[in-house]
Amino acid sequence: MYFGNLDKGYRSLIMGADTKVPIENGRFVTAINFDNAATTPPFVSVINEVNKFAPWYSSVHRGSGYKSRLSSDLFESARLRVLNFVNADPEKYTAIFVKNTTEALNKLSYCFYNNHKDCVILSSYMEHHSNDLPWRDKFKVEYIDITEEGRLQVSDLEKRLIKHKGKVKLVTITGASNVTGYKNPIHEIAALSHKYGAQICVDGAQLIPHSSIDMMPHTPLENIDFLAFSAHKMYAPFGTGVLIGPKDMFERGDPDYKGGGTVKIVTKDFVIWDEAPYREEAGSPNIIGVVALLAAINTLEAVSMENIESYEQELTGYAAEKIRHIPDITVYGDSYSKDDKVGIISFNIKGLHHEIVAEALSREVGIAVRNGCFCAQPYIQKILNLTSGDIKNIIDNAYFPRPGMVRISFGLYNSFEEIDKAINALQWITAHRY
Ligand code: PLP
Repeated sequence: MYFGNLDKGYRSLIMGADTKVPIENGRFVTAINFDNAATTPPFVSVINEVNKFAPWYSSVHRGSGYKSRLSSDLFESARLRVLNFVNADPEKYTAIFVKNTTEALNKLSYCFYNNHKDCVILSSYMEHHSNDLPWRDKFKVEYIDITEEGRLQVSDLEKRLIKHKGKVKLVTITGASNVTGYKNPIHEIAALSHKYGAQICVDGAQLIPHSSIDMMPHTPLENIDFLAFSAHKMYAPFGTGVLIGPKDMFERGDPDYKGGGTVKIVTKDFVIWDEAPYREEAGSPNIIGVVALLAAINTLEAVSMENIESYEQELTGYAAEKIRHIPDITVYGDSYSKDDKVGIISFNIKGLHHEIVAEALSREVGIAVRNGCFCAQPYIQKILNLTSGDIKNIIDNAYFPRPGMVRISFGLYNSFEEIDKAINALQWITAHRY
């Protein structure tokens, strides 16, 4: 099945792609959404599938009625579909449905603690807070360094693996940065980690809507052990995320959340937990969210991840080339080759605070972007070369202009025409010092 055409950027797949929004002076314009790294709008197919399923949904694993059986079967088949989407063997891996990437990574930190109490975890300076904070209170965490442009230093990873001699049990790394868009060489990192006895977790939140992910490529050394991602960044609504990992890693100790659905036997005196994934899915699950995720996966695959990737590379290259020529602009993470970055461009315009630029884009021309630190403060602090004095100023002085950036991020439905509009607007904002 083929849904769109390249010039249109698969626009017809998206619900509300041409919605009009109010801007200054009471005018209305067609909204441009360049904030896809935060959340993507839904596919039409997703909303259609949700509407179709709405009269049928019922309790999952908690009823013998027809609708309950239907919901339970669908829920279980969705697990297999999700595993198949990222090429994870269902004999070895399981998929746990959670709320979002953040919940998936928090859950993994608890499960990992049940397996390895006294170990070192390697994270990196380029992580979203969701792949940093959950590890801090349970493990000794070290951060893999980045280069001046903001890329992960794979050589620093190896140094740390050698330094800790078998004590590193997990390397947890983003598949692609939500600040610079840089992709990490996840299979190379997997091979290095495995060589030194560590497993690897990939935060797939920014990678999965843009690139195919293969958890089991040709050589087992390069396998990805854990993967986390969110449906709301892949054209389905909020409320569903996935944690994938080897089944046996989720079967030790107590689950983080306890309650209905997690147990085999409960008496007044003892509990026998169910097997994974059930013991890790406490409470009634979000079957509607899973239906939405399934529809999103089906549509992404129908378009093909290769088509999506190559179209978004064209968009990103086009935008990057134009944006560089705006006077007084600094683009972060601008040194890349076509296929090692997802469609994210972050920048600042000299003399204009990031908030002013983002507001002007929204209010004057109806372009949605994000500004600030994008929940990746340590990375932004490094890229902007902030000193500890700067950080103290931010803490102590409410009026200190908060450092940050403006971020433009693309989805498969964005167009070259929209980029032209954004470039014109940025030129105007720069020239008029807004
Ligand atoms: N990891 C990365 C790289 C992200 O960009 C985000 C969200 O922006 C997250 C994790 C957290 O995702 P969620 O808010 O869906 O839990």
